[in-house]
Amino acid sequence: MLVLLLASLLLTVPPDTSWKHQRLRTQMVEQQIEARGISDPDVLDAMRSVPRHRFAPNHPPELAYADRPLPIGHEQTISQPYIVARMTELAAPDSTDRALEIGTGSGYQAAVLAEIVDSVYTIEILPELATTATKRLQNLGYDNVVVRNADGFKGWPERAPFDLIIVTAAPETIPPPLIRQLAEGGRMIIPVGPTGRTQRLTLVTKANGEISTRELAPVRFVPFLRNNKN
Ligand code: SAH
Repeated sequence: MLVLLLASLLLTVPPDTSWKHQRLRTQMVEQQIEARGISDPDVLDAMRSVPRHRFAPNHPPELAYADRPLPIGHEQTISQPYIVARMTELAAPDSTDRALEIGTGSGYQAAVLAEIVDSVYTIEILPELATTATKRLQNLGYDNVVVRNADGFKGWPERAPFDLIIVTAAPETIPPPLIRQLAEGGRMIIPVGPTGRTQRLTLVTKANGEISTRELAPVRFVPFLRNNKN
């Protein structure tokens, strides 16, 4: 009897590491995200749920949940947790939304969005990163995310319009196709500015067909690359 009880306990209790990761995420949300004023409950829940360490497998978990961006190879980075949370909150995601992300990278931002919205379309220009992110998101069960390997400048016209668009690489000016693909009432969050210097996180909204642009915080993102083949 005792043996049976012990065996069932062992089977039902998650391995130590998952408690550890959960604890790291709870701390990350409290200390880095809530402490800096992020309050949307859906965003906080998503940040507590997505296993960020699985998106940065070459770093120890403590580093994956630290208050900093992380290299993911190919000279690209996964943004600092706070920046992901801030951009997600600014995009005001809703459960019925269709979202577009430009710059899949590791797939982390796409997963955070996928926890909240109905469907996520995400475009990555580097084929290796697109392939890895596709497999990773599948393995983690994010079946409402579709990854495409292409130049995100043109957006994804076949799936437009999008209620929200998040761009995670910085172009010098806002790509016009992305503005066109914003739905009525839609929100786009995009860092805009010169490569290698400080850019402006910018909120673009479309209401009654009118476009409004508001510059928010100074930020630093990797450059928006262009693919001549597309
Ligand atoms: N959102 C990512 C981080 C992205 S880093 C994450 O959560 O991990 C920015 C990414 O944008 C890089 O992977 C880079 O290759 C990609 N990128 C740069 N220019 C692009 C373009 N024109 N179209 C699509 N992806 C682009």
